[in-house]
Amino acid sequence: MLSRLWQSAMIALARSGRVSRVMQNGRVTSGLSRRFIASGDETVGVARAQALLSEQGLRASLFYLGEYVDQPALVDENVAAKLAVTRALAGTGLDIHVSVDMTQVGHLLDPALTRRNLDTIAEAIRDAAASAPSPGLHCLMLDMEDPSVVDATIALHDDLAERGFPVALTLQAYLKRTEADLAAQIRRGSRVRLVKGAFVGEPAYAYTRRPDVKANSRRLIDAMFSEDAREAGFYPIVATHDAHLIAHARDRARAGGWTPGRYEFEMLLGVREPLARALAVEGERVRLYVPFGRDWWPYTVRRIGESPANAALLARALAG
Ligand code: FAD
Repeated sequence: MLSRLWQSAMIALARSGRVSRVMQNGRVTSGLSRRFIASGDETVGVARAQALLSEQGLRASLFYLGEYVDQPALVDENVAAKLAVTRALAGTGLDIHVSVDMTQVGHLLDPALTRRNLDTIAEAIRDAAASAPSPGLHCLMLDMEDPSVVDATIALHDDLAERGFPVALTLQAYLKRTEADLAAQIRRGSRVRLVKGAFVGEPAYAYTRRPDVKANSRRLIDAMFSEDAREAGFYPIVATHDAHLIAHARDRARAGGWTPGRYEFEMLLGVREPLARALAVEGERVRLYVPFGRDWWPYTVRRIGESPANAALLARALAG
């Protein structure tokens, strides 16, 4: 209960434009955000990705920060940043792996604009990937936001996939609908990143207790590593820092004959990195989500909300 209240408070703080403006202009910028983001432009983000791979054997998904954007000029800026990081990744030998939120690229303004923007980014990733190593690992990864965006995100994912673009989709275990959404994606042989969900929902459509979200995550992982999924060419991405769920996924993979590389684990920069390193040393494919850019407040506060233990981090930054 306490952790749910804490998470709800942090989500509200993340969505406050006024607080965001004050914080991002203030002195706490570097102190608070340093742990969770690679502050700077695409060059800094790509340099961080190169270091993660060469020093720790971890792959990266690059994410230019910014969400719930309702101004056309900012949407254009976001699209330009996604294209810039795609160009910066090309020729480095790294995966051309770029994460995108629908509300960054026009969802709040116009569905047709969102589709055009996603097409532009997906084309750039496809073109850059054509001359890159490790075919199959490059993709436009669609993040998943609040429940109002889920239908549109899945529809655009399916549309891009049907037209042959390298695309992947995030689904959230806290939503009751995800069982059916995942089953449909397994039939399509998609690439799906499963997360618990960074939002708090209502019992009508969401699991609201942490143990229930975890139990649903376990059931969804079972489906991701099923015989049907393997036959369909489905690619499971288990995105969690929860050691029990990671162990469960590895058990299911072993039992079903999935070898490392036929699936992957993904974690967030700054969260349980020793666990990510240990998995990579044991031969698993592990990716870190690497956010970069100026708009650090909403993302950072959402991360702080995921663990009441992070309250001290917030308090120290505000005091210092
Ligand atoms: P938890 O039970 O929350 O965490 C397990 C343990 O990990 C905790 O006990 C704690 O020790 C540690 N931990 C976890 N988070 C933190 C933190 N922030 N700070 C410190 N310790 C922590 N959510 C969405 O709704 N949409 C998305 O598109 C999305 N994309 C994601 C992409 C990736 C690669 C990852 C890893 C997560 C993403 N999330 C997304 C967030 C996700 O939904 C969860 O909110 C987040 O991962 C925490 O859940 P957990 O599975 O790690 O389990």
